[in-house]
Amino acid sequence: MSNNIQDKVVVITGASSGMGESAARHLASLGAKVAMGARRTERLDALVYEITAAGGEAIAVATDVTKPDDVKRLVDMAVEAYGRIDVIINNAGIMPLSPIESLKIDEWDRMIDVNIRGVLHGIAAALPHMKAQKSGQIITTSSVAGHVIFPASAVYSGTKFAVRAISEGLRQEVKPYNIRTTILSPGAVKTELLEHISDEEVKAANSDYVGQVGIPADSFARIAAFAISQPEDVDINEVIFRPTAQQ
Ligand code: NDP
Repeated sequence: MSNNIQDKVVVITGASSGMGESAARHLASLGAKVAMGARRTERLDALVYEITAAGGEAIAVATDVTKPDDVKRLVDMAVEAYGRIDVIINNAGIMPLSPIESLKIDEWDRMIDVNIRGVLHGIAAALPHMKAQKSGQIITTSSVAGHVIFPASAVYSGTKFAVRAISEGLRQEVKPYNIRTTILSPGAVKTELLEHISDEEVKAANSDYVGQVGIPADSFARIAAFAISQPEDVDINEVIFRPTAQQ
């Protein structure tokens, strides 16, 4: 019986580490053809090598999701190589947490650019192909922080609330094209996400917490596979998951 993942063409942004990397590896092992984007191409190249050496199919290209042309190139490369695009996982994100009163305006802007504009650029790149195919699935990585606000998360949470709104609005609009929309909202997952927090106090508190309760990135990979594997008339609109030990 088909797993409804075999031979699907899956584009993943933020595939050079953490949950995107894990999703690429897992989906490729289930037979997907993965097209990966991120800025650190040496990491992507190593993953392409690993996946293809294991008998899977993968390609990658340098992608900065803040640049619409980069994301379009990634999606177009997938369509050119594999003939279609079945899924895009708009996963790239950053989380430089800080209290608003610290006025780290550059970090706010970067979060908005990567976490919101990056998702929109993925939608813009994939939608024309999916409309023409009359099928597709647009997956957006939000967060538990897209549901609740925790200390120093106001702007990050704002970006993750925003992409949930965008995904839900998209869901309502794309019915005529048979396109599924899925929000994945993880809790604390052990990845490189905390490394870019410039506020040392906030970084230490979050590192302690994620170190204690965080779950591995393959949790995300399995849930992404679950959402993709459903029959085409079943649309998993959102999955919230978190460590059992998380508040
Ligand atoms: P990582 O830091 O391990 O991965 C982030 C990925 O995003 C990297 O591949 C990075 O690649 C990519 N990225 C960052 N900026 C850009 C950019 N401008 N253009 C393209 N790619 C970019 O963290 P996670 O795996 O944890 O994060 C993945 C997603 O999950 C994010 O959206 C994050 O907000 C979300 N999330 C994470 C949680 C956690 O606890 N870890 C919880 C809830 C949500 P590169 O630097 O090579 O460009």
